[in-house]
Amino acid sequence: MIELTTLGAAKTVTGSKHLLRTSKARVLLDCGLFQGHRAEANARNHAFPVSVDDLDAVVLSHAHLDHSGALPVLYKLGYRGAVFCTPATRDLLAPMLMDSANIQQSDARHIAKRIARGQKDLEPVEPLYDEDDVAGLLGLVVSEPYHRTFDVAPGVRVTFDDAGHVLGSAIVTIDVEDGGSKRRIVFSGDLGRHHLPILRDPQVPTGADVLMMESTYGDRLHGPIEVTEDALCEVVTRTVERGGRVLIPSFALERAQEVVYTLKKLRASGRLPKIPVYVDSPLTVALTAVFRLHPECYDKEAARLLRSADSPFDFDGLRYVSDVDDSKAIDTTPGSKIIIAASGMCEGGRVLHHLLAMCADPKNTILIVGFQAEHTLGRRLVERRPEIRIFGESRPLRAEVVTLNGFSAHADQTGLIEWADQVARQGMLSRIVLVHGEPGPQGILAKKLQEGGICGRVDIPAMGETIRL
Ligand SMILES: [Zn+2]
Repeated sequence: MIELTTLGAAKTVTGSKHLLRTSKARVLLDCGLFQGHRAEANARNHAFPVSVDDLDAVVLSHAHLDHSGALPVLYKLGYRGAVFCTPATRDLLAPMLMDSANIQQSDARHIAKRIARGQKDLEPVEPLYDEDDVAGLLGLVVSEPYHRTFDVAPGVRVTFDDAGHVLGSAIVTIDVEDGGSKRRIVFSGDLGRHHLPILRDPQVPTGADVLMMESTYGDRLHGPIEVTEDALCEVVTRTVERGGRVLIPSFALERAQEVVYTLKKLRASGRLPKIPVYVDSPLTVALTAVFRLHPECYDKEAARLLRSADSPFDFDGLRYVSDVDDSKAIDTTPGSKIIIAASGMCEGGRVLHHLLAMCADPKNTILIVGFQAEHTLGRRLVERRPEIRIFGESRPLRAEVVTLNGFSAHADQTGLIEWADQVARQGMLSRIVLVHGEPGPQGILAKKLQEGGICGRVDIPAMGETIRL
């Protein structure tokens, strides 16, 4: 018996969680948080779908919270087995999960206060876990480098390849053996793109029988990175010409470092106006320090820069801001500037204070550089709603909103199809299972994969659905 049950990222892009079961072993692939509409996300995150007593091991593809953010729940529920990931993912997890614990606690306090003040439409929320749970979980993490095969449970062996998505991200190849049957399952995790700044290109694992792959951009094509760099330059220049500021809501992991790296390149070529750039996010500051520790994950260009003693993450006029007073001063001091702040979907963090200060002024620009899930404030910005709610207050949205999808760390439709085609050519691919995508893009991608002759069988499992392999 070899079975895969999809417990998250099923017909949606968040909450990545998949259970591999044989007669001898149970292995959880990813353990992500659901994000989006608060009440729904809370309910889903609190109802943990796996009994930890039965679990032999956890394998983590990468450090993004929608893949890793529920790991401390496992520890809280009593799980004491291993969590396998790459060394860079392990180092990124510590600040990512601590930050997640802090945000949950401050959200819970904030909501309790509003309820106490008489707001009737709110339910109290319990944090999913605290810093002790995070510390306990980190004690279970075992790091394994790329391209080394290791045992995770009886009859289950794993190998990581570089997914080229974020620092340390892995494509997970799982060799499963049970009752005489053998399968090689390849789990794409989140698949990156060719020519992304800093990172190497996604690798192609060999010999897959079953491919479980993400489908976030199954219906879309990204512009080339170079075009995105030009567009970024244009947006900044026209905002500065009208005396405005540019706010870039950014995921603290990878996107922020890529944007900084791109601004550095544009500044060095003399194309970018010389205005101050602030990275206003304590988490981004901590994660950038982890990037500095892991040059083994860099592509040739970033590695060369590092060897020449020129940090890829610093330039004249760039300031990393951790202190709260320094953060507040950014909005009160005059002049054009670029502010990069988390969270990337504007669901929390310092970006909200900057949005509040900037959204009503048409001189300013809100520059969206990442995927915005349904029901998030980021999505409402992309949709250019005339009014948005921040901290429970309505504000007119008059700032220019520009979306640059070219920075995406996810493969687009062509990238997904070409990669699946390469995987198919290297093995005996009999089945593709699409996860981590919304239904529209998934349907379009499934059709292309089938009609293009890459694989005749493409499944799109619903939440909780089990596929026998
Ligand atoms: Zn990711």
